[in-house]
Amino acid sequence: MPTYHALSLFSGGLDSILATRMVMAQGLSVLGLHFVSPFFGKPQAVAAWERDYGVTLEVMDIGQAFVDMLSARPAHGLGKTLNPCVDCKILMLRHARALLSHYGAQFLISGEVLGQRPMSQREDTLNAIRNDAGVRDLLLRPLCAKHLPPTPMEESGLVDRERLGAMHGRGRKPQLELARVMGISRIPAQGGGCRLTEKESARRYWPLLQFSALRAEDFHLANVGRQLWHGRHWLVLARNERDGQVLRSLRRPGDLMLQLDQLPGPTGIARPLPGAVWDVATVQQAAATLAHFAPKARTADAPVRVRIDDGGNRSTVEVLPACCFAEPPSWECIREAKAQWMQESSPK
Ligand code: SF4
Repeated sequence: MPTYHALSLFSGGLDSILATRMVMAQGLSVLGLHFVSPFFGKPQAVAAWERDYGVTLEVMDIGQAFVDMLSARPAHGLGKTLNPCVDCKILMLRHARALLSHYGAQFLISGEVLGQRPMSQREDTLNAIRNDAGVRDLLLRPLCAKHLPPTPMEESGLVDRERLGAMHGRGRKPQLELARVMGISRIPAQGGGCRLTEKESARRYWPLLQFSALRAEDFHLANVGRQLWHGRHWLVLARNERDGQVLRSLRRPGDLMLQLDQLPGPTGIARPLPGAVWDVATVQQAAATLAHFAPKARTADAPVRVRIDDGGNRSTVEVLPACCFAEPPSWECIREAKAQWMQESSPK
């Protein structure tokens, strides 16, 4: 097992690349940790990043820990959408800290730049992140290190403070100049990458967040297809063949799979959640809704048959197409409900 001087939080964004490379340029070995969850992460890009940026990476799935944190109301609040950036950083740093001894590493690296983001990169917030994550003496922020007190790694001479950065604020020019000096030609696009910052994705997640005992796989399912709700009953319909393949791969025991019989139409998954009983009438409504989104069924002008497969039993129901399920609330409704949701002590 190779060992490293440091572990770096490596999102694939330019700051994380530069922070990692800045420490590597001092002759220190660094392993980049690429965290993934239903909300962020590009594990499929890791091989290209290793090749393009000359870094070594490991993919770390923190999906369930992230869902637990989000579901329990993030202690440091939410950003503009449903993004709990401060708690997210703390969670990642805690995970990275727990891996230090596994990789024989002595310190952690993150690519934050003082003053770059209003919520998570103010000086007081950077301190809170460092302290709450329990990495006070372990965390180096190479890009803005000269604006921060020296760390034990600098004081001991392991890291040369003179060769660290003094970046500050929202501008990207210093990063682009440093990338040029480092010979990095493939510059990743700015922003993006976290679905929790996107209003349309937030709409997918919001109904789920009203439940307890959520699993990461529930949010993977929320990322796919057409999301439809009837009270506490959740139905996901594929919009195309690719959605259908993903839906089938995400199916888990207890899910109902719905499909039109002898007519083309979307694949559907109904996932039972706590407190939502799928009785015969509700299954009929889900089947009618699935038929509503199948043009051939809608124009049939007669009842159509929908196959229901619960993993053990198969049955067929006859329905007239009708949209009995609704799309999630608008972002405006969610924004209004967000503050109250944060105050609730636990999901219902
Ligand atoms: S934008 Fe998403 S991934 Fe980035 S810190 Fe915030 S919650 Fe975490």
